Amino acid sequence: MSIVSNIKGLGQDILDLVFPSRCVSCDARPLRDHIFCLSCNLSIGGTDHFDIKDNKLIQRLGHRVNAEHGAALYYFIKNGKVQDALHRLKYGRDAHVGHVFGRIFGKRYLESTHFTPADYIVPVPVYYRKEQKRGYNQSLLFARGISEITKIPIYNKLITKKASTISLTQKNRSERYNGLLSSLQVRYRKEIEGKSILIVDDVLTTGATIEAVVSQITKQHKVNIQIGTIALAID
Ligand SMILES: [Zn+2]
Repeated sequence: MSIVSNIKGLGQDILDLVFPSRCVSCDARPLRDHIFCLSCNLSIGGTDHFDIKDNKLIQRLGHRVNAEHGAALYYFIKNGKVQDALHRLKYGRDAHVGHVFGRIFGKRYLESTHFTPADYIVPVPVYYRKEQKRGYNQSLLFARGISEITKIPIYNKLITKKASTISLTQKNRSERYNGLLSSLQVRYRKEIEGKSILIVDDVLTTGATIEAVVSQITKQHKVNIQIGTIALAID
């Protein structure tokens, strides 16, 4: 099935590209399979989302998303090290950042008592012109890292995003949400029906994107939803 991709058998040359020789936040040597060094990693800390059912990410989504479980790896603080790394992922063509975060997420996912391994990983789509400009979809890179560790295949063609026809800056929350909703297109796929899917994105801020994605998927499919992000934005 061409729409399902899974990375297997990475050679050492690719691993060298994937794992950088310097911490993304300072110039020290990074931890093994990581983008941060020991000191930066300690100063950032992770979240407790993998082991706590009613965690901050689930609370942020509130009653609007009916998810089996959800977790972010980190908290995203303005001008913090995680924001810096994600900024590099988003604007600096630093593709390995998404991939390494995915591998770290994958390990914690497998150890978590609240995640039952999903059937598919579904990355949140970006508008294809944006993807072309950037060279990649950062959520797909994150998904690839998770897939590599968990062996859960990626289902990348479930949902697509077209350009939004409304100006996002001029509308109120519900108009923005409706604009977002109409930009997301889901086609019915019978292989998704009744399955468990892990929807992944880089950052969860208000939760509106995940909410719109889940809403469009569940309109057509009966599925079990899990949410995974690199970071959860906090004040
Ligand atoms: Zn460092």
